[in-house]
Amino acid sequence: MSDRVAVIGAGQMGNGIAHVFAQFGFPVVLIDVSVEALSRARATIEKNLARQVQKGTIDTALRDASLARLSASSDLDAVTDRDIVIEAATENADLKFRLFADLDRLAPPDAILASNTSSISITGIAARTKRPEQVIGMHFMNPVPVMQLVEVIRGLATSDATTARTVGLSKQLGKTPVEVNDFPGFVSNRVLMPMINEAVYCLMEGVGTPEAIDTVMKLGMNHPMGPLALADLIGLDTCVSILDVLQRGLGDPKYRPCPLLKKYVAAGWLGRKSGRGFYAY
Ligand code: NAD
Repeated sequence: MSDRVAVIGAGQMGNGIAHVFAQFGFPVVLIDVSVEALSRARATIEKNLARQVQKGTIDTALRDASLARLSASSDLDAVTDRDIVIEAATENADLKFRLFADLDRLAPPDAILASNTSSISITGIAARTKRPEQVIGMHFMNPVPVMQLVEVIRGLATSDATTARTVGLSKQLGKTPVEVNDFPGFVSNRVLMPMINEAVYCLMEGVGTPEAIDTVMKLGMNHPMGPLALADLIGLDTCVSILDVLQRGLGDPKYRPCPLLKKYVAAGWLGRKSGRGFYAY
């Protein structure tokens, strides 16, 4: 029997995570405080499964079976019969701390509680529960159905058994898990965000246009996307939040967000999701 999964948060990451689990045979309940987010997520998953059918990567029987494995709820009580809970709610530490205290109360005692956070301390989240050895980071990349990596983050108290189960689960989804330890930004954002930030400094100081900066990194370094286009995809507000976590958590001013990046966020130019960032969409 496949593990029963709950995904908390039906935003851009939550719908992708639910999609992948359902596609690989796991019964999934998607939980969000917003009923509208839940119906948008279902529509997105249907659209993305249809695209996979069109491309020939799945057939219509798998599409239908995946959708049949997927349910939705606006009540956190839906985790009471789940083996694995993956939290992908808004990137806000206090919100996640509260959520994990509730999940700890509601989920079965042997369930694993995982977070998809981009930067918040797994050790700190785990400390809000009475089962810190069963709390772990399961950091999927955007867009989840396409990207290979799952960054598996061990908190200070995470057990070997929990890590092994999470690594195994990631492989069952056809992903490649990489185990890292809990430090601000983990590996992915600790390395990526300073590069994006430096690209914004290059723009602010007039070293090059956005197109020039991105083309140098694409053709010169073989990156599939330039750093400014990638920042627009991630969301410029999310980039600032992660840089703030790095600066605060590591106590090093080298991570301070570029003033131009903060100015774009203040203007509401958040990237693709707002229609304008370093590029117009
Ligand atoms: P999003 O804003 O698209 O979605 C967040 C969802 O969480 C919303 O639908 C919101 O209604 C819901 N939510 C808020 N509070 C809730 C609660 N108490 N209970 C249930 N649902 C709640 O955000 P996103 O981009 O999907 O990011 C989600 C998480 O994934 C964040 O921790 C983020 O750092 C992480 N992440 C994001 C990316 C990315 O590229 N966007 C990549 C990797 C990881």
